[in-house]
Amino acid sequence: MEKACDFCNKNNFATRIYLENKYFYWLLNRRPLKPGHTLIIPKKHCLALTDLTTEENSLLLNDLKKYLPQLLKVFKAVGYNLAINFSETAGQTVPHLHIHIVPRPQSDSTEKVDYVRAEFYRNTPEINRTLLTEQEINQQIKLLNQ
Ligand SMILES: [Zn+2]
Repeated sequence: MEKACDFCNKNNFATRIYLENKYFYWLLNRRPLKPGHTLIIPKKHCLALTDLTTEENSLLLNDLKKYLPQLLKVFKAVGYNLAINFSETAGQTVPHLHIHIVPRPQSDSTEKVDYVRAEFYRNTPEINRTLLTEQEINQQIKLLNQ
């Protein structure tokens, strides 16, 4: 039997969604690389950014423009990484398009190694990524929707 796609089944992440529109979910990563680590997942099953229609592209960019400031504000970030891994070669672990947004606080500028960027390319097991509790997720969703 073919393995079901994790991102086609909303039940896998329903409690972590903080924004939803016609084509996309915005949700908190349960093992964030940095506080506020968000995944944007298209509702339709597709693999690549280039599989999106013009209408979907345009909604995606408009949403980024509209909602990024709130994400940065809530997590006290001064910058962010926006990343898409396409294909296993590039580190795509779930074969359903997803866009990472990782807010970056000012304190990240003093890190000697940029683990966030390393992690995007290849999962780096030596990094201990803490699993968020249900309570933490609910608290963050509340802040994001203020
Ligand atoms: Zn899928």
